Amino acid sequence: MREFPFELALCAHLEATTGDVLARQIGGGVRVPSNRIIDVLCVEPGPAFEARAELTNERIPDAAIESEVGVGQSRYWRNAFDTSPEYARKVVDRAVEIGFFERERKGGREYVRQVARYPDWFGRLVGVENKPNLAEPGDLETQLRKDVSLGLVDEVILATESYVTRAHLNRIPEEVGVWRFEGDDDEKEIEVIREPTPLGTDAAGTELVEQHAGKADVRVVGAEEKARQRRRMAERAYGKGWRTYDFPACGEIESRNGGLPYCRWKGRIVNPVRCGADCPGHDPSDPPDIDLDFERDSRTPWVGDPAGRKRRQTGLDAFRTEE
Ligand code: SF4
Repeated sequence: MREFPFELALCAHLEATTGDVLARQIGGGVRVPSNRIIDVLCVEPGPAFEARAELTNERIPDAAIESEVGVGQSRYWRNAFDTSPEYARKVVDRAVEIGFFERERKGGREYVRQVARYPDWFGRLVGVENKPNLAEPGDLETQLRKDVSLGLVDEVILATESYVTRAHLNRIPEEVGVWRFEGDDDEKEIEVIREPTPLGTDAAGTELVEQHAGKADVRVVGAEEKARQRRRMAERAYGKGWRTYDFPACGEIESRNGGLPYCRWKGRIVNPVRCGADCPGHDPSDPPDIDLDFERDSRTPWVGDPAGRKRRQTGLDAFRTEE
């Protein structure tokens, strides 16, 4: 199976069998987040999860969480940020737009406050690296070593469709758990080949920033920096989810199993970005009317239209009237 359909099928399976927030393609580095992209991030909800879900369905910008805007008294927006006014302006506007901040005008100045205290909402993070075919490993070993030495996620898993041999296991770090995910399209199951070893997320880790011939640029990342990056990753996952595609304008596509793009002509899940007139089976038509947010809302703990959103709209209207 190709990597994209494998990844979507795994997400649909994990969504049906766990209560985790799942997202695809999340930056898993600290100094250079895009240096390491985690295929699937599983975020375990913590005890304050509901409070987070009530706030907003979107990612909350880190600068808004870290600002001095609190829940009690509103603050003059410029005094709450230790950044350029332009950047602070963008963050305030976004935080108001998604319902994390409320704003009001007093004496010709704009004041902001948090709608509710930002909760400690997530527990463990599990990073899954997908490699359906172990005969084509690419730089799998290096990627997994990066994850283990940094220790940003609590556990790292390699998911594959291949039969896993002792030689495969010996080539990857022993801390990495291994799942075999295979079976018929609608009945795939996970077979745990090896359990992961928990990583030291609350201690410093080592990040491989760059690698040249015979030389590696490595940085030590402190526990606090890691904690901040973990929160960013959890926020990204909450806002993004895994249904990050649009259905193609083709009569052969249909939604299966909670929004998987299944092509009747190919008889499998397809990557919609590859669909188009070049495909021999392409049958021009309007894209199907599928609400992927509805699928996510009805199948996961993510809340598509939280109460906070309604409060926000009211607040926004009031602000616009004043303007
Ligand atoms: S463009 Fe091709 S692959 Fe995509 S849905 Fe249509 S027939 Fe299937």
